Amino acid sequence: MSDRKEEIDLRLAEIPGQYHAKRALEVALEGKHSIQFIGSQDSQAEALIDALKELQGTIWYKNPYSRAIKPCPCGYDGLGTNTACTCSIEQVTEWRRGLSFNDYAISVVVPDDSPDEIMKLVDIGAFDEMAVRLLRAAVLQLGLSYRQTVETISVAHTIAEMAAHEGVQACHTAEAIQYIGKRD
Ligand SMILES: [Zn+2]
Repeated sequence: MSDRKEEIDLRLAEIPGQYHAKRALEVALEGKHSIQFIGSQDSQAEALIDALKELQGTIWYKNPYSRAIKPCPCGYDGLGTNTACTCSIEQVTEWRRGLSFNDYAISVVVPDDSPDEIMKLVDIGAFDEMAVRLLRAAVLQLGLSYRQTVETISVAHTIAEMAAHEGVQACHTAEAIQYIGKRD
């Protein structure tokens, strides 16, 4: 494997799942094609753009031809989001009209990770059975994004460590869930 290919693979491995979007990103990098990722604010569209910007390095450093874009003003329209869109049909139409979707060589929809996918992707090795069950319920009922779930797991680890407890239990997880920020 070439160094470059390895660099790309390593960086993209930091973004879980999303094989379709990552493949498109590789194609864009290879041919220096313009690319846009269309996804809600819970999706990994921004993370993909960050990876692209890092990987394209100085060559494309200020390339205006890549972007992550929300599907509507509130950012939650369609695309399998867990949170309902609050925009009117008129607002969505207006938004899309202003986007000039066709200006990009590659356009990729980045779906939100489903609760099942999120639970598969995160590292819950230290969680006991009750803690996992509680976390799963939070992901499902609060509609946590992948990123929020990772942060919640990290906070639960801290709480368990503060209690000098080796594994993460339901009480640690419950406290971490209380600290999840509310959407504005
Ligand atoms: Zn919306």
